[in-house]
This record gives sequence, structure tokens and C-alpha cells, in this order.
Amino acid sequence: MCALQAIFFDFDGVLLDTEPVHCACWAEVLAPTGLTLTWDYYRDHCIGIDDRDMLLNLARQARPPRDWDSLWALYPAKKQLFQSRMSAPSFESAMVAMLPALHRQFKLAVVSSSSVTEIEPLLVAGGIREHFDTVVGGGDVSVQKPSPEPYLLAATRLGVDTALVLEDSAAGIASGRAAGFEVLTVRHPAEVAGLLRYRLA
Ligand SMILES: [Mg+2]
Repeated sequence: MCALQAIFFDFDGVLLDTEPVHCACWAEVLAPTGLTLTWDYYRDHCIGIDDRDMLLNLARQARPPRDWDSLWALYPAKKQLFQSRMSAPSFESAMVAMLPALHRQFKLAVVSSSSVTEIEPLLVAGGIREHFDTVVGGGDVSVQKPSPEPYLLAATRLGVDTALVLEDSAAGIASGRAAGFEVLTVRHPAEVAGLLRYRLA
């Protein structure tokens, strides 16, 4: 087996427990259009899915069906609301404490379907941006997870052939596996430090 060269972290639900906040922000900006977004629906159908695709599904399923452009026009408002709610992101302290040592041993990347402009300010605010060699966001690829493209792009940027992927969603797990990498399933960011310690021991 080839030696591990890199560790790739999904962002939402792996590095930070952001999914309930994303859901609440989308629900708030969608409400004036008459669309109701519940946590149960979001959890089952939207986690790990790019925002554009999520809105495409919502627009198609709405009664009456909505125009995608009118929903996508709400994205700047959702993004602003999310940033205001996440001004002091609380990354798991055990995971933060591991990052310097991990970065001495491996190349590290964040690979997300969220926009880099949403993720990067949170990494900076949490004081951990410096530990990641690259951040791949939804806007960087032509096909989103579950396609392997986001993870393959991270590997290309870092010049690595082997990587360990940490993912929480079905789409993300499928993406990492399709890229040919080993995937650890994360149920909550609080598990990440323990999972890595166990895997790398
Ligand atoms: Mg995720």
C-alpha cells in the first residue's frame, strides 16, 4: 500500500457543524417566496449537495414549480445571513490542536461544495487557514460531489496520488471513493480528532 501523502477534509459537517445554520439561513430567505424548508427535508435531501442543485430540486418540486433564477437570486442574501451568524466559528479544539502536527506530516486541503468565499473567512476567523495547502470550493469544479472531480482537483493542486478523505454526507463519501481515495465517515466534527488518531496510529 502506498504511503499516505495528504488528508482532505470536507468542510460542512466535518470541520464545522454548519449544516443546521445553512438550513436556517436558506429557510429564512426562502420564506417570503412561500417555500418552506424544514430541517428534516434539508438533512435528507440537501446535505452534501451544491446550492445550485439544491435550489433546482426545490424549484422543480414546489407547487406551483418555481423559476430557478428567482431562487438563485436569493443566494447573496443567504450568504450574508450565514456570515453574520458564523462570525465567531467554534472549531473543535481537539481537531485544531492536531492540525500543526498533521501539516508537518501531510499535505492538507479543504474540499467542499460550498463557495470558497464562504469557507475561507471562517478558516481565517478560526485561526486555521494557514494549515491548509489549498481550499477547493464548489465554484472551482464543473461537476460537484458525488463526482470525483473536487477530490481529484485537490490531488492535482497538491501533486499527490494518495489521500485520506473525511466526509459526512453520502454524496461526499461517494465522491472521495470515486476519486480512488480511502474515506473516513464522520458523523459530527467532534469525532474528527479521534478518528484521525485511530487511523494514523
Ligand atoms: Mg459535509
